[in-house]
Amino acid sequence: MHETIVIGAGPVGSYYASKKECLVLEQKKRSGVGEPVQCTGLVSTNIDDFVKLPKSFVQNRIHGAVINSPSNQVYIKRKNVAYVINRKRFDQFLLDKALEKSEVVFDERVEKYSKFGDYVQIKTAKNVYRTRYLVDASGPKSDKPFLLGLQVRAELEREPFVELFFGEKVCPGFFAWIVPESKEVCRVGLATRSPSTYLDKFLEGLGNPKILDWQGGIIPMHEPSARGESWAYYLGDRGGHAKPTTGGGLVLGLKSAEILSRGFDGFERKWDKTVGGELKLHWRIRNFLNKLNDKELDELVKLVKQVKPELEKHGDMDYPSLFLRKLLNPPVAWYAVRNFFKML
Ligand SMILES: Cc1cc2nc3c(=O)[nH]c(=O)nc-3n(C[C@H](O)[C@H](O)[C@H](O)COP(=O)(O)OP(=O)(O)OC[C@H]3O[C@@H](n4cnc5c(N)ncnc54)[C@H](O)[C@@H]3O)c2cc1C
Repeated sequence: MHETIVIGAGPVGSYYASKKECLVLEQKKRSGVGEPVQCTGLVSTNIDDFVKLPKSFVQNRIHGAVINSPSNQVYIKRKNVAYVINRKRFDQFLLDKALEKSEVVFDERVEKYSKFGDYVQIKTAKNVYRTRYLVDASGPKSDKPFLLGLQVRAELEREPFVELFFGEKVCPGFFAWIVPESKEVCRVGLATRSPSTYLDKFLEGLGNPKILDWQGGIIPMHEPSARGESWAYYLGDRGGHAKPTTGGGLVLGLKSAEILSRGFDGFERKWDKTVGGELKLHWRIRNFLNKLNDKELDELVKLVKQVKPELEKHGDMDYPSLFLRKLLNPPVAWYAVRNFFKML
């Protein structure tokens, strides 16, 4: 019997296995890990707390964001706030780190697992394993609420700022993005229930740039949890640990893995106090944003303009609780009072 088995050698499962010795079961062959790319590769510099990113796969450094509502716009400048990374190389890099500490069985697809007494039995297409602790890091699942993310790499000249576009006509229920991976190439995408029509229209608005590549995948859109049925600990997208505000799952996924690698005892409590609390706040912000019509989005961007200096100083893509309380000034308080019921 194994002490700990992890399902999935994606970035989160691999990161966990690089910190704590375990057995990882991965459905892909070793050469297939990190492919196909289903990610924009935008990570805040908070990633430095977990991984020293080799310079060779940081493709761009981002110095702020331009937020667009249907009739309003705000620039938030913040030097070196995020990196745009080569996601395939990132996943393979974390896998190499995992292999220094743990064993990974490739081409081993888990079909089901169940709890028996004090162990969990895992059935794959070829084998049956037993483990005391099971960590499920097998990515997003389509039996839970999700959005479909679709993006292209396109020839488009941009400064190193991320551009976000909100509005019913652009992307209902989420937003469209332009993330420059270099001066000449951007990752342009959006996430919604039927993304292709919206993306076609969005690209048309950008003058139909030359498309180099298509990418896409599932973004979990449900309340996050640290524990699933059959006694499994959930990490990464499996537990809905991608931020519901932006869909970004790498930084908080790695943070959750780090907390779990320190021990199973009291994990849920520790996770809830840190990552879980932040994710739940992202979830509330997402629910609030989804209740706003285009006019109300314009009003929100107007408010963001009023707190721009504070956002430029304290804003954090991952941990909203760190800066929300710093934004409490009369215009924000008045806005909160007027929108109180939407925030519930
Ligand atoms: C369009 C799009 C854009 C995104 N952009 C960003 C971004 O800019 N920044 C960011 O931080 N995040 C982004 N994300 C989210 C990010 O990609 C995920 O949060 C991240 O991949 C989660 O990592 P994970 O290890 O939990 O899951 P995954 O990366 O999905 O890895 C899961 C692993 O488990 C394996 N597996 C699955 N099922 C089984 C099974 N039954 N048996 C064995 N192995 C199995 C898979 O093969 C895979 O290797 C984006 C997502 C999408 C769809």
